[in-house]
Amino acid sequence: MVLFGLYRQKHEKAASIKTSLVYPNDFEKSNQVNRVEEGNRAREIIKRLKEEYPEAKIALDFSDPWELLVATILSAQCTDKKVNEVTAGLFKKYRSIDDYAVAGQEELEQDIRPTGFFRNKAKNITGAARLILSDYNGEVPGTMEEILRVPGVARKTANVVLGNAYGIVEGIAVDTHVFRLSHRLGLSKERQPDKVEKDLMSTIPRKDWFHLTYLLIEHGRNVCAAKLARCDICVVNDLCPSAFKV
Ligand code: SF4
Repeated sequence: MVLFGLYRQKHEKAASIKTSLVYPNDFEKSNQVNRVEEGNRAREIIKRLKEEYPEAKIALDFSDPWELLVATILSAQCTDKKVNEVTAGLFKKYRSIDDYAVAGQEELEQDIRPTGFFRNKAKNITGAARLILSDYNGEVPGTMEEILRVPGVARKTANVVLGNAYGIVEGIAVDTHVFRLSHRLGLSKERQPDKVEKDLMSTIPRKDWFHLTYLLIEHGRNVCAAKLARCDICVVNDLCPSAFKV
């Protein structure tokens, strides 16, 4: 009897969540955007992804804020796995931020070449090291305003470094997985990452901002990949407006 009661409660709760959901397409048709309903849907998506990926976290290797900044700059258009392979040797060769500031450009380019876009990345890394040494006493700055002054740092990198190095969460890091899944899940229609981030920040509770990035990255890697969305095994397929349409 008790078991049946629990079963019924669980399913009544699930049914009430389902019936309260309104997909973005429906919103458009009725032209009545209901932020509360959309917030409920987003919260339910996050809840399920947390259950699915309880260990979701950053995959880059680093031992201090500067190494995290270097690894994040290198991760643009490159897999975390490849970045970790490169930084395993890089962090042994360049022991401190001063080593990067005085590094020969061509030598550094060759050291990071496998990560792609190596000329630009090398220029940004030496530029970042010099600015941080001259303006911030060699410490990676800990505010959004300051870190955005550093060469090679836009909002995604800033959010990754502030959140993982200092526990400071001022936004949501939008990488390629977060961007793609935000669209598929109907959380944003914007074409620029900064605008997608704003949409997410307006819907997702602040306490989940940091974690959301790593939940969506895990889901993007494991289930909702760019080329193949496995909607049949997706834990949020009943909440996703793109389910079985990708
Ligand atoms: S239902 Fe399909 S498109 Fe939607 S998040 Fe899941 S795998 Fe991606």
